[in-house]
Amino acid sequence: MILIWGLRNRAKTVSTGEFFCSRCGADRSYVLQQIRRWFTLFFIPLFPAGKVLGEQVKCSTCGTGFRPEVLNTPTSASFSENLRGAMRVASMSMLAAGDPTSNAARAAAVDAARKTGAENYDESWLVHDLAALDASQLRDYLGPLAQGLDPQGKETFVEQVARIGLADGPLTASEMQVLESLSATLGLSAAHLRGIVVSITTATDPGASALD
Ligand SMILES: [Zn+2]
Repeated sequence: MILIWGLRNRAKTVSTGEFFCSRCGADRSYVLQQIRRWFTLFFIPLFPAGKVLGEQVKCSTCGTGFRPEVLNTPTSASFSENLRGAMRVASMSMLAAGDPTSNAARAAAVDAARKTGAENYDESWLVHDLAALDASQLRDYLGPLAQGLDPQGKETFVEQVARIGLADGPLTASEMQVLESLSATLGLSAAHLRGIVVSITTATDPGASALD
């Protein structure tokens, strides 16, 4: 009898979950697979030969294989969640740095939260958020945004927060400080921030200067 033996790569599922598939452009389920070489006899895998060759994340919808590092990228859902949280903490920091009782500033904060997708955000949420404000959380929220937002997105984020500060009058030193630490954490330069602030103020009131 002739023995037909050989080697074949086999993928074994290690874990499953949700990830952002760049091919599909959406959140998808995946299988994390370990690739190993197996000895085969009559084309039937008998036992693994040698070490694990590598791992791949396979999209369950389009079948594309990715390097495992792709799992470090947040899913769209978790990214949006993070963006909403970051905006709430950033808005509250800005409100607290200025005049938290100003109706115009509070309205701007509600507007900023709604623009990030928190459509039901209202004054009662804001009262809760102001009381619960923990500014030390801001960095945790902004870290993923610094990576995940494109320059335009970062600009819009800072712009929304600046509008809250400007709603109750020109930016004070402590309001400017909030914007500075915000932009620095997002990776925007001081000059970039100045440009954003100037463009908002000249757009709303050509005669006013936001920076004193
Ligand atoms: Zn896919």
